[in-house]
Amino acid sequence: MQIDILTLFPEMIDQVSGHSILGRAQKNGLISIRAVDIRAFTEDRHRKTDEAPFGGGEGMVMTVQPVSDALRAVDAGSKRIIYPSPKGRLLDQDLIEGLAAEQDLVFLCGHYEGIDQRILDYWKPEEVSIGDYILTGGELAALVMVDAVARLIPGVLGNEASAMSESVYSGLLESPQYTRPRIYENMSVPDVLLSGDHERIRLWRYRQSLLETREKRPDLWRTYLEKAGSLDLGKKEKEILAEISGVDAFRPDRRRRGKRKDARTEKK
Ligand code: SAM
Repeated sequence: MQIDILTLFPEMIDQVSGHSILGRAQKNGLISIRAVDIRAFTEDRHRKTDEAPFGGGEGMVMTVQPVSDALRAVDAGSKRIIYPSPKGRLLDQDLIEGLAAEQDLVFLCGHYEGIDQRILDYWKPEEVSIGDYILTGGELAALVMVDAVARLIPGVLGNEASAMSESVYSGLLESPQYTRPRIYENMSVPDVLLSGDHERIRLWRYRQSLLETREKRPDLWRTYLEKAGSLDLGKKEKEILAEISGVDAFRPDRRRRGKRKDARTEKK
């Protein structure tokens, strides 16, 4: 995947994208992240890329010409363009999955008071917000998206199963994680995780995920319960879900009993 990030501060992108999992993914040729310096395209004698807004007001606005030429230089017309913006749709995992399916992505980072509206009218980028707060520029928002996209690209994490079990991905928050030592200042790791019994561990994790989601993200919890009837859950998961949710309909025995009763009624 080729990702071009158009910015006035390319060093911000290089600092982050060269390290850790993103850096390794680039070295392994799984992804290429290029910071494109918008200032390099300005035709202004003083290399300016911003001007005061027409009509007055606070701050500076990024000018059309260098941004437009930078977009042309990366052939953005044939690619999906994302403009990180507080006015955009809120970022979520569904959007990240859609972006991860692309061959090429272009991120256009605004700064100061934003970009001249004619860029948005002509290039029609998708505006995406990473939350209801205002950043100084789009660079950090673009990097948030690139990071989340990269970990969905096969081979980037090395262990694809771990991407699937992360919080939110499955509709539930991930269960708590522990590592060595077994006991730290009188705090010990739950016994079940040391039992070596994979089935018990799996069910314990499912229970913890349900509890975490119910407590910390009531919105996700409601959605999960709405979908749970159509999920391929085993008998034991259904029992745990019925217990944590208090919804008896999830209990497998109960459904069967209900069905038997119906069958008897039909015979009569
Ligand atoms: N004047 C703009 C407004 O009120 O909508 C805000 C401009 S902001 C100071 C500068 C740049 O930061 C924006 O052009 C955008 O690229 C980025 N930005 C700010 N907040 C953001 C957010 N919540 N999500 C994504 N990008 C954001």
